[in-house]
Amino acid sequence: MTCAELIRYLSDYIDRNLDEALTAEAEAHLATCQNCHVVLNTTQKTIALYKQSGRQVIPAERRTALFARLQAALPPRADCEA
Ligand SMILES: [Zn+2]
Repeated sequence: MTCAELIRYLSDYIDRNLDEALTAEAEAHLATCQNCHVVLNTTQKTIALYKQSGRQVIPAERRTALFARLQAALPPRADCEA
């Protein structure tokens, strides 16, 4: 299995949705590839943190402020000019 293939199968691997052959290939790759091992760990930690924090609701006024800051930070779009 290549790194690109591993990344493609990563979420199914984490969810244990891969068949036995692909799981074995993924594990063999992870055992030898430090980069993919780090990607797997980071992804699993992110999922765990997200589950731990639960669903976050952003209050309306903060959402408006966030949106305004995002718009200010984005470069102006040439195709939007009147
Ligand atoms: Zn790899």
